[in-house]
Amino acid sequence: MTEPARKSILLVEDEENLHDALRLNLELENYQVTSAYDGNQALKAISDEYFDLVILDVMLPGIDGISVAETIRVQHNPVPILILSARNSSADRILGLKKGADDYLNKPFNLEELLLRVQKLIEKNERLQERNAVPNRYSFGKNIIDFRAQEAFNKKNERIRLSKKESMLLKLLIENKNEVVKREKILQTVWGYHVYPTTRTIDNFILNFRKYFEEDSRNPRHFHSVRGVGYKYTE
Ligand code: CA
Repeated sequence: MTEPARKSILLVEDEENLHDALRLNLELENYQVTSAYDGNQALKAISDEYFDLVILDVMLPGIDGISVAETIRVQHNPVPILILSARNSSADRILGLKKGADDYLNKPFNLEELLLRVQKLIEKNERLQERNAVPNRYSFGKNIIDFRAQEAFNKKNERIRLSKKESMLLKLLIENKNEVVKREKILQTVWGYHVYPTTRTIDNFILNFRKYFEEDSRNPRHFHSVRGVGYKYTE
């Protein structure tokens, strides 16, 4: 791995002055910021890109922030969500947290506090991801993968050499066992920013994994495609 990728934040806020000020300050903290000004734009961005955090205003034109949070969770997207609430109402906060937000701030808020909470949420999420870290030698079914050596052994104990990208994709899917990993996240993690190959490329990788590791590659037990969304590994 080269230098770690900048953390990406989706900023959903319709008040332009506040939006611009937040964006500027987040960028000064070296975050990569994507802007959305209403609920529809937010949901579109969420389905197109991978984010490390969503900052979400509640009062938005069209779909409100609470519904956006709810939709994100219905889609099984675990991205941390920080709600910005204009109304100092505990009912609102409770609803936001119930619908899947991880934290909230009441407007007007202190910028430093917001930046601290952003940092904390991103770090907490990183720790959670690390907890799911896969060991260097990982076995499933009758297969063994050795990530350090970039090789695997299938049920017939045949040695399979893995390319760097195959190894990275396997690791990513296994780290997120039983969860759909979105194509955008795969492209970002394995291929890096702005070097997006077509999704057919990922399909070919998955087909190879099935050939390597499945008992019956046409009825896969471990490597699943979830149409229009991404890919899932199950043990
Ligand atoms: Ca608003």
